[in-house]
Amino acid sequence: MAQKENTQTLVQNSARFYCSICKRRTKGFKSQAGLQRHETLKHIAYNTPPQHIRSVPKSELLHLKRVIVKELQKRLKNHHTAVGEQTFSIHCSEDAFVGLFKKHITRYSPCGSSYFCSFKGEGAFDEIGRLLNDKNWGKRNYGEGQLSFVRLYVSEEFENNSYKQKKKSRLSVNGEMTVKWKVTGGKDKENHKFEAGSAQFRFFLDQCQI
Ligand SMILES: [Zn+2]
Repeated sequence: MAQKENTQTLVQNSARFYCSICKRRTKGFKSQAGLQRHETLKHIAYNTPPQHIRSVPKSELLHLKRVIVKELQKRLKNHHTAVGEQTFSIHCSEDAFVGLFKKHITRYSPCGSSYFCSFKGEGAFDEIGRLLNDKNWGKRNYGEGQLSFVRLYVSEEFENNSYKQKKKSRLSVNGEMTVKWKVTGGKDKENHKFEAGSAQFRFFLDQCQI
């Protein structure tokens, strides 16, 4: 009789999704989406990386830093139409991502296996410069005083004067760079999966005359 009860509990458990962050045992969620909603509501600031993360050699991290700077620089275009939101992705392992961004991860979602970082404010440009070992990581000089750069800070005065008339969607990303890591890919009809870790960068490109 006891054995039968055990089996029943197991079956029930396998059909439910449990939060790995909550210390108290809860009754779980019916779907992964339910668990994801719970995480977003209750654990938006959870940023402890999981146990399975392994350390990555410094040389690999150095390579990753160079890849990021190279891809960013390619997107710091000179033409005025380039001003606005820019995104790009690079392939990057979970270990390497955590190795590089560990102190800057603002959210880790165990259920979605995803990480989120946000950089903004007056000191953010130099902060990323130290992280990537390149103080010019986010600006590109086109000569004759023309500069394209990643905007991470908007002074209140500037915002009030020049940006009031511009589109709302522009405002929302202006002055922040976000980096998200997750597994992306797909599967075919035979359930053959093709997936790999990917870091997506989103930033606001601006230009000025110096
Ligand atoms: Zn929870």
